[in-house]
Amino acid sequence: MKGIVMNVLADMVEKQFGMPEWNAILSEAGSEGAYTAAARYDDQELLDLVSIISRRQSMPIEDLVFAFGEFMFPAFYERYPALIDAEVDFLPLLASIDSVIHVEVNKLYPGAATPAFEEEWRNDSALMLRYRSQRKMCKLAEGLISGAAKHFNTTYALQHEPCMHRGADHCGLLVTLT
Ligand code: ZN
Repeated sequence: MKGIVMNVLADMVEKQFGMPEWNAILSEAGSEGAYTAAARYDDQELLDLVSIISRRQSMPIEDLVFAFGEFMFPAFYERYPALIDAEVDFLPLLASIDSVIHVEVNKLYPGAATPAFEEEWRNDSALMLRYRSQRKMCKLAEGLISGAAKHFNTTYALQHEPCMHRGADHCGLLVTLT
């Protein structure tokens, strides 16, 4: 997990719960918190932070990870507007995650273990994304999709079937424009 992800998590917690709360979370995690965007950190460090926040804020981990994904979309866009082609629309953007966005992310952050997304158009307004990652953070993917939809002022319906948390080898995220 690259430090940029921790930086975005810090931004979210500071914005929503305040700087003293973020400092309290770091001290509980035994972390100094000076995360360098391009440095690599153990995934466990992020998971520890997430579980501490979840407990302190009485927020289920799934909800927190979703909210984090939702926050992450505009946070990345603000840092790297060039990652998103101004001409592109919501579904085409989602369809380009693997072939365009993750390629660029890996240029910015060599060695970033970006998850695999395989896209399949069902029709003009329905896109199936197959997500594979050892992190099994499909709720983060759901949050990112929601953040992207807000960015494009678009409404959509999501079917999440199958899911790695129910024994499948991947998560299927079917996004349909509404
Ligand atoms: Zn899933």
